[in-house]
Amino acid sequence: CGIVGYVGSQQAAPLLVEGLGRLEHRGYDSAGLAVLGPGREGRLRVVKKAGRVRDLAEALPKRFAGKVGVGHTRWATHGPATDVNAHPHTDTKGDVAVVHNGIIDNAAALRAELTEAGVDLLSDTDTEVLAHLIGRSEADTLEERVTEALARVEGTYGLAVLHAAYPDRVVVARNGSPLLIGVGDHEMFVASDLAALVRYTTRVVHLEDGELATITADGFTSTGHHQAVDLDIDPAAYDAG
Ligand code: GLU
Repeated sequence: CGIVGYVGSQQAAPLLVEGLGRLEHRGYDSAGLAVLGPGREGRLRVVKKAGRVRDLAEALPKRFAGKVGVGHTRWATHGPATDVNAHPHTDTKGDVAVVHNGIIDNAAALRAELTEAGVDLLSDTDTEVLAHLIGRSEADTLEERVTEALARVEGTYGLAVLHAAYPDRVVVARNGSPLLIGVGDHEMFVASDLAALVRYTTRVVHLEDGELATITADGFTSTGHHQAVDLDIDPAAYDAG
């Protein structure tokens, strides 16, 4: 239902929680966060819960450090609203975290194929297959791994991906589900809705269907080769609702 992401010099979790709060008007049944912690390994940590964003905020450990992260509010399509089915979803090794809006139409076939290959699926969701497909890819870059996984998938998606082996970035892609990049000063944001960005920046890139993009602290690259545009809007107008 809603996606937020951050890479920069600030702690990601408080910004992501605030961004998810701005998406509450869209409706949702669960919420979750993943951050890549400091240190050589770029350790991936996930907290996710059925319920409200404030329940998620209360469930966060005191130290949930990381300057790269993604967050999600879920509106369940595949599997009930449970903690396990909440996003982010991870691969078996716990290196990859995926948040996803939309519906993977061929999820049943992909789940069967992964199970056949020995993968233990933890959730009932269509989304989890994406985490495993990305985790199992041996392509050279995260962008190629995500592209390879998406080539197997039919359906709609806005998605944001973290990978512990690529701790400087968030990779996003869209097909039929909105996604924007927000350009800050040595910090970059992604969101499925402008409302989650305007408090931080009004310099944005609207991604198009079929596009894949990467944010790092210092900028973005996208297969669509967009320039960011400065929106002439009043951020305060988004505080009312
Ligand atoms: N199809 C996914 C699920 O059921 C994503 C739903 C959404 O867009 O929030 O978990």
